Amino acid sequence: MKSTFLSYGGGVQTFCLLLLAEEGKISRLDELVFADTGAEHPETYEHLEKVVKPICKKMKIKFVTVRMKKIVSDISRLNPEETLEYKKMFENTKKLSRNKRTIKRREEEQKMKIPRVMVTSLRDTIVKRRIVPSVNPSSRWCTSISKLVPIQQYIVSSKKNGEYVEQPIALIGLSADEMDRIYKPHHSEYVVKYPLIGLKMTRQDCIVYIRQRGYSVPPKSGCYFCPFQSKTQWVKLMRKHQDLFDDAIKLEEADLNFPTYGLRPAGGTLREIRGRWKDQSWFAVNGKDEGEEMACEQAGYCGL
Ligand code: SF4
Repeated sequence: MKSTFLSYGGGVQTFCLLLLAEEGKISRLDELVFADTGAEHPETYEHLEKVVKPICKKMKIKFVTVRMKKIVSDISRLNPEETLEYKKMFENTKKLSRNKRTIKRREEEQKMKIPRVMVTSLRDTIVKRRIVPSVNPSSRWCTSISKLVPIQQYIVSSKKNGEYVEQPIALIGLSADEMDRIYKPHHSEYVVKYPLIGLKMTRQDCIVYIRQRGYSVPPKSGCYFCPFQSKTQWVKLMRKHQDLFDDAIKLEEADLNFPTYGLRPAGGTLREIRGRWKDQSWFAVNGKDEGEEMACEQAGYCGL
């Protein structure tokens, strides 16, 4: 029966954990679970296919991809007049308690004949709900619905099928320089462990170890439209993946509260700042060492 899984984020730290497990330096893994938001950078998906999956195969551990599945109200097709009406209703119900708010909004949505649809990716959710992820850490709904919940659901159903022990262990890739991000899950589906902290390995140590093992440092993980990414990351996206940057603009501009609210809350809208960034020379990131640049920044945006 399985007992331990690696909660795989796609970036430096979790890749380091996989390599440590391969060398027998941390607990044996039964499988690797990757919660796919559907919005990782193409380089991350490529790294998963070309590097991570072959390592899992060699280690004889299963690579499991989990995805969200959620029913949401589809307000993507409201005309401007209906949008105003919806926004008013949304505002008016904000002060209700969580339960009452949900019930009231559902009732009002039914009156407005707003359809309920199934979404299977974070982008889909953003499009249908017309809400981009928030930089407010206390409302990290994007992480919750696209990562935490799908992993929990997978573990719950695997336990029901008798595939996992009653109290599985999830290995999480927080490093020793990220102690402030340690969290206690609000559920009891599995317990979490932080092997990199036990080994006193920082993110930079992980980069060194990955290179010593002969691998290149994986690209930074996270959704291409993540509001937590640095200016440098946005600029890199703009330069390397114009289509994804344009899509982030589209998502931002469709937000119910745009332009009051957006993906760069302190820096103007993406469309505005695209012009400014294009003119600046400091962000000449091409040619800069990928690993060194990432070493300066915080790890995965999700805060997992
Ligand atoms: S915090 Fe950022 S990377 Fe994580 S799910 Fe939300 S948008 Fe994606």
